[in-house]
Amino acid sequence: MNVAVIGKGGREHAIVKMLANSKSVNNIYAIPGNAGMREICEVMYRVNEDDFDAIAGICIEKQVDWVVIGDAGPLSLGLADFLIDEYGLTVFGPRKKEARMETSKSFTKNLLKKYNIPTADFKVFESYDEAKKYIESAVPPYVIKKDGLSEGKGVVIVENTEEGLKALEQLAVLSDEDDVMEPLLIEEYLQGEEFSLMVMVNEDYTHTFEVIAQDHKSAFGRGEGPNTGGMGAYAPVTHISEAVRLEAIEKIIRPTAEAMVKEGLSYFGVLYLGAMITDDGVKVLEYNARFGDPEAQVLLSMIESDFACILEKVQRKEPLSIEWKDGYTVGVMLATEGYPYEYKRGIGIAFTDEIMDRSFISGLAQTEEGDYISSGGRIMLVTGTGKTIEEALKAAYSSVEEIQFDKKEIFYRTDIGHRALISK
Ligand code: AMP
Repeated sequence: MNVAVIGKGGREHAIVKMLANSKSVNNIYAIPGNAGMREICEVMYRVNEDDFDAIAGICIEKQVDWVVIGDAGPLSLGLADFLIDEYGLTVFGPRKKEARMETSKSFTKNLLKKYNIPTADFKVFESYDEAKKYIESAVPPYVIKKDGLSEGKGVVIVENTEEGLKALEQLAVLSDEDDVMEPLLIEEYLQGEEFSLMVMVNEDYTHTFEVIAQDHKSAFGRGEGPNTGGMGAYAPVTHISEAVRLEAIEKIIRPTAEAMVKEGLSYFGVLYLGAMITDDGVKVLEYNARFGDPEAQVLLSMIESDFACILEKVQRKEPLSIEWKDGYTVGVMLATEGYPYEYKRGIGIAFTDEIMDRSFISGLAQTEEGDYISSGGRIMLVTGTGKTIEEALKAAYSSVEEIQFDKKEIFYRTDIGHRALISK
């Protein structure tokens, strides 16, 4: 088959790498792709993810059979709908209506509530004054969230009323009409250990990844600094038991797939469950309509099975058993100073082909001379593997040490996998 992969991050680099190793895949087109993918597929730099006509044009010209959409942006704009309805393509990634599982938290929370799927209690506010009144009398801690996509910047955990009012100011997007704002959710605070599960979904068919990865959201070590897209990940997370994973499948994932079908949704793609293990059982924190980044890089690189075959089996709703590599994988993200806020572009970085083989590129461009320079906040995820978590950590960090960069301009967390070490 010929496949187009839509996106330009590390997650899409991982998808492209997996497809490049699939026996049934002839050609791969990355749209717009990135500098890391050049050796393994055709990269269409000049086409943006929101240029639907140009994407369709490439798919027709190159006789693409499958389109894999990596990122939530084009899903929220209806790229899947366009390619399916206008061109009859097979698209792995939900339509706009189904992508609301990620793009509208109130939509998802209402669905979960209607079908008694465990999640934090919540209220939705569209009146600024009512939200303010509620905050003035509510007992913290609680969580205020934007309804729509917000690149990890739309959630504030509130510990006192003053913080609550500040968060309201920060998150409220007021309309021209008096007192009306874009929906905000105020949610019960859940205490516990967080984890995520990647699920391949085709309507009522679900296949949950057997291996769990843990992301590291804060910019600096031990939870310090602002939240980011993710500064590293490792897998498997052995301190989260199989019993917890099975509970999530039975009480959350299957009921969610059934609920979507009952609501007339026809979901095809990855559903990412963000969950919390509370004293009261596993509860949903959020759903995303695509793989997590950087969890995808770590998890996909641990899959032994043919990835294109996996996609085809999900499409045909056939029984699926994924073969996983033994041992552990750790990924350490390099990011430019200032990220997730303002950061400089064009910072030089140099590494060998061997390092490239063990890395997933998120934000790098190449100069005419072939040198790498940064083009984004997150630059690359460097991975290491080993029989134990300690060995994998050592391998990942010694690869980072081999990369040439200025430590004043590029930073990384030195505590990836700390939870796994503590739990030991
Ligand atoms: P979300 O985008 O909804 O997953 O929220 C981002 C992060 O905020 C989560 O990964 C959690 O760490 C935290 N969070 C969200 N909702 C809650 C909640 N109800 N209780 C505690 N922490 C939460």
